[in-house]
Amino acid sequence: MIVLLRADASIAETREVEAALTRAGASCRRVRGPGRLALEVVGPYAPFDDATRARIVALGAVESLLQADDPSPRVTAAHGPVNVDTPSGVVAVGADEWTLMLGPCAVENEADLVAAAAAAQQAGARFLRGGAFKPRTSPYAFQGLGDEGLPLLRRVADAFGLGVVSEATSEAGVAAVAEHCELIQIGARTMSSTALLKAAARAGRPVLLKRGFGATVDEWLAAAEYLLDGGAPGVILCERGIRSFEPGTRATLDVGGLALAKLRTGLPVIADPSHAAGTRALVAPLALAALAAGADGLLVECHAEPGRARSDGPQALTPADVADLGRTLGRLAPALGRRAPKPLLCSNQTCQPTTTSSPRSSASPR
Ligand code: PEP
Ligand code: MN
Repeated sequence: MIVLLRADASIAETREVEAALTRAGASCRRVRGPGRLALEVVGPYAPFDDATRARIVALGAVESLLQADDPSPRVTAAHGPVNVDTPSGVVAVGADEWTLMLGPCAVENEADLVAAAAAAQQAGARFLRGGAFKPRTSPYAFQGLGDEGLPLLRRVADAFGLGVVSEATSEAGVAAVAEHCELIQIGARTMSSTALLKAAARAGRPVLLKRGFGATVDEWLAAAEYLLDGGAPGVILCERGIRSFEPGTRATLDVGGLALAKLRTGLPVIADPSHAAGTRALVAPLALAALAAGADGLLVECHAEPGRARSDGPQALTPADVADLGRTLGRLAPALGRRAPKPLLCSNQTCQPTTTSSPRSSASPR
């Protein structure tokens, strides 16, 4: 076991932790890591019971206890929401309130993005999603607007008080995504690209990590470990469906895997029912199943007019579907002990969260 100390722990505080470990029957030695000290428990000791662990974790100098034989110790030890600063304030992903991230599969043009953002905002979204770099199966399919798409996404999201989540598909693209977006998305196809994970971890933004469609939960958590170990200020896991023998849906939303990830780590876990469903009519049922299983939010594709979408139109919700989903979440949340997000209230100057019971946001962005 490794007792990771806070970077600012004093010598007296460090000694206090060492004394607590001795009292618990363990001996330890100091290990100096980059910029901080850790205590490695080396002596034979009986596994700490919950009360002992809690006593050690509560000491001011202790950041976390890491299980040395755990391949993803930082992921296991993670706890608490990921706080993301957005134009309308801090959004705590993983807190009681579900986090909605809505928008088109790909950023295409300003008018459609504005229509999608308006629907998203009115349904309670806190983030606008949209890919500027699209990892398409066919090289002949629309690959996204690339660098041009990011400032457009940023401008439209700002107008509605929303944060932005967008995918970085290459190491070289990470910096531009980090410059324009609050959340860097790592997609299913690149979840296990360690070079990309390391680059994303260094970018100073929290990362939304999709589960690869052929990845086990352990492999998904190991990818998250790369991010935390590399310095990412937060990781949000996203279950988006895995490959199975069922051809009727695009992928199989692994609700069990989602619940297992929630059990194994304190990281927020959200669901992407869109890429699992592949079909508009199945998006809401999968979304509700995921939330009932403990998901902390949803990443959902929508489009002003899905028939015109240049990517993933069949699974895109219409603005009316988005409004329906928002209403359904409002009814479901109390039964699950969660809160559905209320629409941001937008005036000409600002967009702010509201807790009043019947908020009706203005459709016009600031
Ligand atoms: C996406 O969310 O735009 C996307 C490409 O999803 P995934 O990586 O899950 O296929
Ligand atoms: Mn898509």
